[in-house]
Amino acid sequence: QKKDHARTFYRSEMVTIPALPSEKIPKPTGELPFGKYYSDHMIDVDWTLEGGWGKPKLHKLQPLQLHPGSKVLHYAIELFEGMKAYRGIDNKIRMFRPDMNMARMNRTAQRSALPTFDSDELINMIADQIRLDLEWVPSSATSSLYIRPTLIGTDKTLGVGNPHDAKLFVVTCPVGSYFTSGFQPVSLLADSQFVRAFPGGVGAFKMGCNYAPTIGVAQSAQAKGCQQVVWLSGDNEELTEVGTMNIFVFWKNEEGDLELATPPLDKGIILPGVTRDSLLHLGKEYGEFKVSERSFTMEDIRLALKEGRLLQMFGAGTACVVSPVGQIVYHNRKADKYETWNIPTMEAKPNLMQRFYENITDIQYGRVDRPEWCFEV
Ligand code: PMP
Repeated sequence: QKKDHARTFYRSEMVTIPALPSEKIPKPTGELPFGKYYSDHMIDVDWTLEGGWGKPKLHKLQPLQLHPGSKVLHYAIELFEGMKAYRGIDNKIRMFRPDMNMARMNRTAQRSALPTFDSDELINMIADQIRLDLEWVPSSATSSLYIRPTLIGTDKTLGVGNPHDAKLFVVTCPVGSYFTSGFQPVSLLADSQFVRAFPGGVGAFKMGCNYAPTIGVAQSAQAKGCQQVVWLSGDNEELTEVGTMNIFVFWKNEEGDLELATPPLDKGIILPGVTRDSLLHLGKEYGEFKVSERSFTMEDIRLALKEGRLLQMFGAGTACVVSPVGQIVYHNRKADKYETWNIPTMEAKPNLMQRFYENITDIQYGRVDRPEWCFEV
């Protein structure tokens, strides 16, 4: 095989320097809050415009050395992914649909003028990384190893232009369950003065620059007693995403059909979630209701609630699979007042959200076989 470093790096060239016993990080005991603890090893690959990709390294977790002029620090030339490895009931470790994450990472790299790479090479390198950090993959059937591949522009020229140097790295974190005591419904702030993404923008890509502006908004939501934000778009206030999750409604639509709906990807304002895609697949397989990628507005939700047609609303993402919505605090800008809408997700029958949760986690933890969605480490 001819090596083409302009196109990709190669797992076969990865140099592994395991952490010494004295360099190993003490294992946390007790709770595993998201992103608090890191495993012992990281992957690190450098790229230059002239030389292409260098040899990947797998070594102990260590700080990065960056010039203060690095583009990532000034223009947020950064992208990332989020996926998980699960220790199954058979003690096998599976990554869930990592090909989808890698395809998204490459699409985001292309949009960011950062270098692309061969997805299979990185998946196999991450599998090596996990094998080296095997004891960091939690054993509990509600915990997992969160995997964070990241790509940054590192050259120190301050001109706003395409990066000439870049670094790809992968760190992993053991993480616990979101729902230790069953599903907790969340309350959402719906206020169209805040916008996450817009047509022509980069909402469909997983760039760090999409997340920084949401933190202050999340703080305003918390000040209103809400845990998350439902991101609205356009004058007709279409619901697009909830927090950092895709949004689903399960309802009787205006034609009286039972329907699962999530906003479509065509405007480029929705992140194409791996969980979103998986739920759409499962919903179609059930064959018991209509499954639609279609827009819906706050007015549609208001009407469905009024007519008793709305069964469930939930977020969907890698972090928690599904997250029930129990309430929306809506800023009615025309009337300039806040309204509280109760969403019957937790009481609804049939409980589609719960069924999705069980089906997905059954696959992730090896209780049900779905080899095309699992990559065994
Ligand atoms: N939307 C946004 C904005 C996100 O950050 C995420 C998390 N990656 C998702 C949706 C859900 O995507 P996935 O199912 O791939 O985790």
